[in-house]
Amino acid sequence: MKIGFIGLGNMGAPMAANLAAAGHEVMGYDTAAPAPAGVSAAASAAQAAQDADVVVTMLPNGQILRLVAEQIIPAMKPGAVLCDCSTVDVDSARAVAQQAHDAGLGALDAPVSGGIGGAQGGTLTFMVGGDAQAFTTVEPLLAIMGQKTVHCGDAGAGQAAKICNNMILGATMHVTCEAFALADKLGLDRQKMFDVVSTSSGYSWSMNAYCPAPGVGPTSPADNDYQPGFAAELMLKDLKLALAAADSVGASVPMGDKARQLYEDFVENHDGKGRDFSAILPYLSPKA
Ligand code: NAD
Repeated sequence: MKIGFIGLGNMGAPMAANLAAAGHEVMGYDTAAPAPAGVSAAASAAQAAQDADVVVTMLPNGQILRLVAEQIIPAMKPGAVLCDCSTVDVDSARAVAQQAHDAGLGALDAPVSGGIGGAQGGTLTFMVGGDAQAFTTVEPLLAIMGQKTVHCGDAGAGQAAKICNNMILGATMHVTCEAFALADKLGLDRQKMFDVVSTSSGYSWSMNAYCPAPGVGPTSPADNDYQPGFAAELMLKDLKLALAAADSVGASVPMGDKARQLYEDFVENHDGKGRDFSAILPYLSPKA
Protein backbone atom coordinates (compact mmCIF):
# COMPACT_ATOMS: atom_id res chain seq x y z
CA MET A 1 0.00 0.00 0.00
CA LYS A 2 0.99 3.62 -0.40
CA ILE A 3 0.88 5.30 2.99
CA GLY A 4 1.13 8.96 3.99
CA PHE A 5 2.34 9.40 7.58
CA ILE A 6 1.97 12.80 9.22
CA GLY A 7 3.57 13.45 12.61
CA LEU A 8 6.94 11.71 12.97
CA GLY A 9 7.57 12.34 16.68
CA ASN A 10 8.30 9.91 19.51
CA MET A 11 5.46 7.62 18.47
CA GLY A 12 4.97 8.40 14.77
CA ALA A 13 8.58 7.82 13.68
CA PRO A 14 8.86 4.20 14.85
CA MET A 15 5.29 3.42 13.68
CA ALA A 16 6.07 4.76 10.19
CA ALA A 17 9.42 2.91 10.17
CA ASN A 18 7.64 -0.37 10.99
CA LEU A 19 5.20 0.10 8.08
CA ALA A 20 8.13 0.77 5.74
CA ALA A 21 10.07 -2.23 7.07
CA ALA A 22 7.03 -4.42 6.30
CA GLY A 23 7.30 -3.44 2.63
CA HIS A 24 4.82 -0.56 2.33
CA GLU A 25 5.69 2.63 0.47
CA VAL A 26 5.63 5.31 3.17
CA MET A 27 5.93 9.06 2.61
CA GLY A 28 6.14 11.05 5.84
CA TYR A 29 5.76 14.67 6.86
CA ASP A 30 6.51 16.53 10.08
CA THR A 31 6.99 20.24 10.70
CA ALA A 32 10.07 19.54 12.87
CA ALA A 33 11.13 15.89 13.08
CA PRO A 34 13.12 14.10 10.35
CA ALA A 35 11.79 11.08 8.45
CA PRO A 36 12.98 7.78 9.95
CA ALA A 37 14.78 5.02 8.03
CA GLY A 38 12.83 3.69 5.05
CA VAL A 39 10.37 6.62 4.99
CA SER A 40 10.68 9.26 2.27
CA ALA A 41 10.25 12.89 3.35
CA ALA A 42 7.47 15.00 1.81
CA ALA A 43 7.65 18.79 1.51
CA SER A 44 4.13 19.24 2.91
CA ALA A 45 1.32 17.33 4.58
CA ALA A 46 -0.69 17.52 1.34
CA GLN A 47 2.18 15.99 -0.63
CA ALA A 48 2.46 13.08 1.81
CA ALA A 49 -1.31 12.50 1.47
CA GLN A 50 -2.03 12.93 -2.21
CA ASP A 51 -1.17 9.48 -3.61
CA ALA A 52 -1.79 7.49 -0.45
CA ASP A 53 -4.31 4.67 0.00
CA VAL A 54 -4.19 5.33 3.74
CA VAL A 55 -3.01 8.45 5.56
CA VAL A 56 -2.00 7.94 9.18
CA THR A 57 -1.75 10.97 11.47
CA MET A 58 0.09 10.94 14.83
CA LEU A 59 -0.18 14.50 16.11
CA PRO A 60 -0.10 16.25 19.49
CA ASN A 61 -3.77 17.28 19.90
CA GLY A 62 -7.21 17.83 18.36
CA GLN A 63 -6.54 21.42 17.32
CA ILE A 64 -3.50 20.38 15.27
CA LEU A 65 -5.38 17.38 13.88
CA ARG A 66 -8.17 19.69 12.63
CA LEU A 67 -5.55 21.99 11.05
CA VAL A 68 -3.77 19.10 9.31
CA ALA A 69 -7.12 17.60 8.19
CA GLU A 70 -7.89 20.89 6.39
CA GLN A 71 -4.62 20.47 4.49
CA ILE A 72 -4.82 16.80 3.59
CA ILE A 73 -8.50 15.95 3.02
CA PRO A 74 -8.75 18.02 -0.20
CA ALA A 75 -5.51 16.40 -1.45
CA MET A 76 -6.47 12.76 -0.79
CA LYS A 77 -7.68 10.51 -3.59
CA PRO A 78 -11.31 9.30 -3.54
CA GLY A 79 -11.86 6.18 -1.44
CA ALA A 80 -8.64 6.61 0.53
CA VAL A 81 -8.83 6.31 4.33
CA LEU A 82 -7.71 8.84 6.92
CA CYS A 83 -6.64 6.99 10.07
CA ASP A 84 -5.89 9.24 13.03
CA CYS A 85 -3.84 7.53 15.72
CA SER A 86 -3.32 10.64 17.90
CA THR A 87 -5.10 11.04 21.24
CA VAL A 88 -7.65 13.82 20.74
CA ASP A 89 -11.05 14.89 22.05
CA VAL A 90 -14.08 12.95 20.86
CA ASP A 91 -15.56 16.08 19.18
CA SER A 92 -12.44 16.63 17.03
CA ALA A 93 -12.39 12.94 16.08
CA ARG A 94 -16.04 13.08 14.99
CA ALA A 95 -15.64 16.41 13.17
CA VAL A 96 -12.64 15.19 11.16
CA ALA A 97 -14.40 11.90 10.34
CA GLN A 98 -17.44 13.83 9.08
CA GLN A 99 -15.24 16.09 6.98
CA ALA A 100 -13.51 13.04 5.48
CA HIS A 101 -16.84 11.32 4.71
CA ASP A 102 -18.16 14.49 3.06
CA ALA A 103 -15.11 14.38 0.78
CA GLY A 104 -15.73 10.73 -0.17
CA LEU A 105 -13.04 9.32 2.10
CA GLY A 106 -13.05 6.66 4.81
CA ALA A 107 -12.09 7.70 8.33
CA LEU A 108 -11.05 6.02 11.55
CA ASP A 109 -10.02 7.26 14.99
CA ALA A 110 -7.44 4.69 16.11
CA PRO A 111 -5.58 5.93 19.19
CA VAL A 112 -2.96 3.67 20.71
CA SER A 113 -1.68 2.39 23.99
CA GLY A 114 1.76 0.94 24.67
CA GLY A 115 4.11 3.93 24.64
CA ILE A 116 7.30 4.32 22.64
CA GLY A 117 8.37 0.76 23.51
CA GLY A 118 5.17 -0.52 21.92
CA ALA A 119 5.62 1.79 18.92
CA GLN A 120 9.19 0.60 18.37
CA GLY A 121 8.41 -3.07 18.89
CA GLY A 122 5.16 -3.08 16.87
CA THR A 123 3.22 -4.18 19.95
CA LEU A 124 0.75 -1.31 20.36
CA THR A 125 -2.92 -1.78 21.21
CA PHE A 126 -5.26 0.10 18.84
CA MET A 127 -8.76 1.13 19.91
CA VAL A 128 -10.72 2.03 16.83
CA GLY A 129 -13.85 4.03 16.02
CA GLY A 130 -15.33 4.25 12.54
CA ASP A 131 -17.11 2.32 9.83
CA ALA A 132 -16.46 -1.34 9.05
CA GLN A 133 -15.23 -0.79 5.48
CA ALA A 134 -12.48 1.62 6.51
CA PHE A 135 -11.58 -0.70 9.38
CA THR A 136 -11.16 -3.65 6.98
CA THR A 137 -8.83 -1.57 4.77
CA VAL A 138 -6.63 -0.38 7.61
CA GLU A 139 -6.59 -3.44 9.88
CA PRO A 140 -3.56 -5.09 8.15
CA LEU A 141 -1.53 -1.93 8.79
CA LEU A 142 -2.58 -1.83 12.44
CA ALA A 143 -1.47 -5.47 12.70
CA ILE A 144 2.04 -4.39 11.66
CA MET A 145 2.23 -1.52 14.15
CA GLY A 146 0.50 -3.36 16.98
CA GLN A 147 -0.41 -6.71 18.45
CA LYS A 148 -4.04 -6.01 19.44
CA THR A 149 -6.82 -4.11 17.72
CA VAL A 150 -10.31 -3.58 19.12
CA HIS A 151 -13.01 -2.07 16.91
CA CYS A 152 -14.90 -0.16 19.61
CA GLY A 153 -17.78 1.31 17.57
CA ASP A 154 -18.59 4.33 15.42
CA ALA A 155 -16.53 7.50 14.95
CA GLY A 156 -15.17 8.73 18.30
CA ALA A 157 -15.47 5.36 20.07
CA GLY A 158 -11.71 4.76 19.87
CA GLN A 159 -11.02 8.11 21.54
CA ALA A 160 -13.62 7.37 24.22
CA ALA A 161 -11.80 4.12 25.07
CA LYS A 162 -8.43 5.88 25.02
CA ILE A 163 -9.33 8.65 27.47
CA CYS A 164 -10.81 6.11 29.90
CA ASN A 165 -7.60 4.06 29.66
CA ASN A 166 -5.36 7.08 30.18
CA MET A 167 -7.35 8.34 33.15
CA ILE A 168 -6.43 5.01 34.79
CA LEU A 169 -2.81 5.41 33.64
CA GLY A 170 -2.45 8.93 35.09
CA ALA A 171 -3.77 7.83 38.46
CA THR A 172 -1.70 4.61 38.61
CA MET A 173 1.56 6.27 37.53
CA HIS A 174 1.17 9.02 40.08
CA VAL A 175 0.41 6.65 42.93
CA THR A 176 3.23 4.29 41.84
CA CYS A 177 5.64 7.24 42.13
CA GLU A 178 4.11 8.13 45.52
CA ALA A 179 4.68 4.55 46.68
CA PHE A 180 8.36 4.61 45.64
CA ALA A 181 8.81 7.98 47.41
CA LEU A 182 7.15 6.56 50.53
CA ALA A 183 9.34 3.42 50.33
CA ASP A 184 12.45 5.65 50.07
CA LYS A 185 11.47 7.44 53.29
CA LEU A 186 10.78 4.08 54.99
CA GLY A 187 14.27 2.86 54.01
CA LEU A 188 13.02 0.18 51.59
CA ASP A 189 15.34 -0.67 48.69
CA ARG A 190 13.76 0.26 45.33
CA GLN A 191 14.69 -3.05 43.70
CA LYS A 192 13.02 -4.96 46.55
CA MET A 193 10.00 -2.70 46.24
CA PHE A 194 9.79 -3.55 42.50
CA ASP A 195 10.32 -7.27 43.10
CA VAL A 196 7.41 -7.33 45.55
CA VAL A 197 4.90 -5.01 43.90
CA SER A 198 5.44 -6.22 40.32
CA THR A 199 4.35 -9.70 41.44
CA SER A 200 1.75 -8.61 44.01
CA SER A 201 -1.66 -6.98 43.94
CA GLY A 202 -0.19 -3.48 43.46
CA TYR A 203 1.16 -4.38 40.03
CA SER A 204 0.19 -2.30 37.02
CA TRP A 205 1.56 -1.27 33.63
CA SER A 206 3.10 1.77 35.36
CA MET A 207 5.09 -0.48 37.69
CA ASN A 208 5.74 -3.55 35.55
CA ALA A 209 6.27 -2.14 32.04
CA TYR A 210 7.28 1.49 32.67
CA CYS A 211 8.85 1.49 36.11
CA PRO A 212 9.45 5.12 37.22
CA ALA A 213 12.59 4.23 39.23
CA PRO A 214 15.88 4.29 37.28
CA GLY A 215 17.85 1.03 37.14
CA VAL A 216 14.86 -0.99 38.31
CA GLY A 217 12.56 -3.15 36.19
CA PRO A 218 12.48 -2.89 32.38
CA THR A 219 14.28 -0.07 30.56
CA SER A 220 12.06 3.00 30.69
CA PRO A 221 12.39 6.80 30.39
CA ALA A 222 13.57 6.81 34.03
CA ASP A 223 16.78 5.23 32.68
CA ASN A 224 17.17 8.10 30.22
CA ASP A 225 17.00 10.98 32.69
CA TYR A 226 13.19 11.09 32.32
CA GLN A 227 13.26 12.33 28.74
CA PRO A 228 9.89 11.46 27.15
CA GLY A 229 8.70 8.77 26.45
CA PHE A 230 5.26 10.09 27.16
CA ALA A 231 5.57 13.74 28.12
CA ALA A 232 3.90 14.96 31.33
CA GLU A 233 2.05 17.63 29.36
CA LEU A 234 0.54 14.93 27.09
CA MET A 235 -0.62 13.05 30.20
CA LEU A 236 -2.17 16.29 31.45
CA LYS A 237 -3.84 16.79 28.06
CA ASP A 238 -5.39 13.32 28.27
CA LEU A 239 -6.60 13.84 31.84
CA LYS A 240 -8.22 17.11 30.78
CA LEU A 241 -9.89 15.27 27.87
CA ALA A 242 -11.22 12.65 30.31
CA LEU A 243 -12.53 15.34 32.69
CA ALA A 244 -14.19 17.27 29.87
CA ALA A 245 -15.79 14.07 28.58
CA ALA A 246 -16.97 13.15 32.09
CA ASP A 247 -18.47 16.64 32.50
CA SER A 248 -20.28 16.36 29.18
CA VAL A 249 -22.08 13.16 30.23
CA GLY A 250 -22.36 13.80 34.00
CA ALA A 251 -19.97 10.98 35.03
CA SER A 252 -18.31 11.17 38.47
CA VAL A 253 -14.50 10.81 38.24
CA PRO A 254 -13.01 12.11 41.53
CA MET A 255 -9.76 10.10 41.29
CA GLY A 256 -9.27 11.14 37.65
CA ASP A 257 -9.86 14.74 38.71
CA LYS A 258 -7.22 14.46 41.45
CA ALA A 259 -4.71 13.03 38.94
CA ARG A 260 -5.50 15.96 36.63
CA GLN A 261 -4.82 18.47 39.45
CA LEU A 262 -1.54 16.75 40.38
CA TYR A 263 -0.22 16.64 36.78
CA GLU A 264 -1.32 20.25 36.24
CA ASP A 265 0.68 21.31 39.31
CA PHE A 266 3.71 19.27 38.15
CA VAL A 267 3.64 20.68 34.61
CA GLU A 268 2.88 24.29 35.49
CA ASN A 269 4.68 24.83 38.80
CA HIS A 270 7.46 22.23 39.05
CA ASP A 271 9.27 22.14 35.69
CA GLY A 272 7.38 19.04 34.57
CA LYS A 273 6.96 20.32 31.01
CA GLY A 274 9.25 18.44 28.64
CA ARG A 275 9.86 15.64 31.14
CA ASP A 276 8.42 12.16 31.07
CA PHE A 277 5.18 11.66 33.03
CA SER A 278 7.05 9.24 35.34
CA ALA A 279 9.30 12.13 36.51
CA ILE A 280 6.80 12.57 39.36
CA LEU A 281 9.16 10.23 41.26
CA PRO A 282 12.29 12.47 41.29
CA TYR A 283 9.99 15.43 42.03
CA LEU A 284 8.54 13.67 45.11
CA SER A 285 11.82 12.04 46.17
CA PRO A 286 14.65 14.22 44.81
CA LYS A 287 17.47 12.95 47.00
CA ALA A 288 16.98 9.23 46.36
P1 NAD B 1 5.49 14.13 19.79
O1 NAD B 1 5.33 15.53 20.25
O2 NAD B 1 6.79 13.41 20.00
O3 NAD B 1 5.13 14.03 18.21
C1 NAD B 1 4.20 14.84 17.58
C2 NAD B 1 4.82 15.28 16.26
O4 NAD B 1 3.86 16.05 15.52
C3 NAD B 1 6.04 16.18 16.45
O5 NAD B 1 7.18 15.62 15.81
C4 NAD B 1 5.62 17.50 15.81
O6 NAD B 1 6.69 18.20 15.16
C5 NAD B 1 4.58 17.04 14.81
N1 NAD B 1 3.68 18.08 14.38
C6 NAD B 1 3.11 19.07 15.12
N2 NAD B 1 2.33 19.84 14.34
C7 NAD B 1 2.41 19.34 13.09
C8 NAD B 1 1.83 19.70 11.84
N3 NAD B 1 1.00 20.75 11.74
N4 NAD B 1 2.12 18.95 10.75
C9 NAD B 1 2.97 17.90 10.85
N5 NAD B 1 3.55 17.50 12.00
C10 NAD B 1 3.28 18.22 13.10
O7 NAD B 1 4.30 13.33 20.47
P2 NAD B 1 4.14 11.73 20.60
O8 NAD B 1 4.62 11.33 21.93
O9 NAD B 1 4.66 11.07 19.37
O10 NAD B 1 2.53 11.63 20.66
C11 NAD B 1 1.73 11.76 19.50
C12 NAD B 1 0.30 11.44 19.87
O11 NAD B 1 0.23 10.11 20.38
C13 NAD B 1 -0.29 12.35 20.96
O12 NAD B 1 -1.63 12.61 20.65
C14 NAD B 1 -0.14 11.52 22.22
O13 NAD B 1 -1.09 11.87 23.20
C15 NAD B 1 -0.35 10.13 21.68
N6 NAD B 1 0.28 9.04 22.45
C16 NAD B 1 1.57 9.17 22.88
C17 NAD B 1 2.14 8.11 23.61
C18 NAD B 1 3.57 8.19 24.11
O14 NAD B 1 3.95 7.33 24.92
N7 NAD B 1 4.37 9.16 23.67
C19 NAD B 1 1.40 6.95 23.86
C20 NAD B 1 0.11 6.86 23.37
C21 NAD B 1 -0.44 7.91 22.66
